[in-house]
Amino acid sequence: MSAERESGKPKLPKSFKYGARFASPVNSPSWEWRDDTQFLQVTTGCSHNGCRFCTFFKNVPYGKVPLDEVKFYLKYVALCDKVIPVKRVFLQASNAFHLSYDELMEIAELIYEYLPGLESIGSYGRMSDLRDKSVEQLKSLHDAGYSQLFFGVESADDNLLSLMNKGYDSAELYEAGFKLKESGMPWACTVMFGLGGHGYGFEHAVKTAEFFNAVEPDIVGAVSMTLTLDPYTNMVAPLKHAVDRGEFVEAGEVERYEEMREFIRNLNASTLFLSRHSSMPVGFAALLPDKKEELIEAITKVIDEGDEAGMKQFRERVREV
Ligand code: SF4
Repeated sequence: MSAERESGKPKLPKSFKYGARFASPVNSPSWEWRDDTQFLQVTTGCSHNGCRFCTFFKNVPYGKVPLDEVKFYLKYVALCDKVIPVKRVFLQASNAFHLSYDELMEIAELIYEYLPGLESIGSYGRMSDLRDKSVEQLKSLHDAGYSQLFFGVESADDNLLSLMNKGYDSAELYEAGFKLKESGMPWACTVMFGLGGHGYGFEHAVKTAEFFNAVEPDIVGAVSMTLTLDPYTNMVAPLKHAVDRGEFVEAGEVERYEEMREFIRNLNASTLFLSRHSSMPVGFAALLPDKKEELIEAITKVIDEGDEAGMKQFRERVREV
């Protein structure tokens, strides 16, 4: 007899809250986990699936979910809407924004058919997903509800983009970033500290800050490279093998905050800097440039305290990033 039968309390399947089932763990920035946000599977896996530090979606191939199936999920999301009105839908999985302009427009139309009170649609994307979309198309997508898309930039340093097999170079990053800026669509992105390993932080920090100064994302989310064992697939990132072979030396913990401070010193964009992430032993949130000096002071305090062992212990306990 199952535990739930024994206790006499029927247990709702986990997928109920989100209205649908998912092909892989739900993937979204932490601030999207709100009661009035629903997740909707329109793609599976990652179209690139090649970044050397990443363990996501290794057991799920990239694919498009047929529209009939999206409709099926939407029926359940619409049921949830009756309980707690849905204000935002965040598309799954790694980079749903890889879909074409026409496909994204069709999906937006469908979503609003089921959720007429919806305020916006979000999604993760790769900067290369902007290749086939014009500024005019981005404006139309924004008018159709897409907003605050989240792009995993990580770095604007060509050495690291190539070393980590990000699948684009800095020239493409600038082209894509300027398209987003010109379209007026609000967007967020990541910078990853520790990406270059021991002794290589500052060049990455300066080049990435310069990129953000030019293209001005609305939110910069900081993460710290963490080569975990994926709890779902029991696999490690390809880069972890290079670490084990002694070919790549991971950056120290204090060193990563020195990198962060250099990044902030060089960052002049008007943006919200957030480093409250599962990979960050100490997290910050600061509106820039207003709070720049206070932020630098706070980061300096972490550096001066120099708790390398404590922060390393923290990282060893991280299971998911
Ligand atoms: S980091 Fe993102 S783009 Fe790169 S392989 Fe992982 S999921 Fe795909």
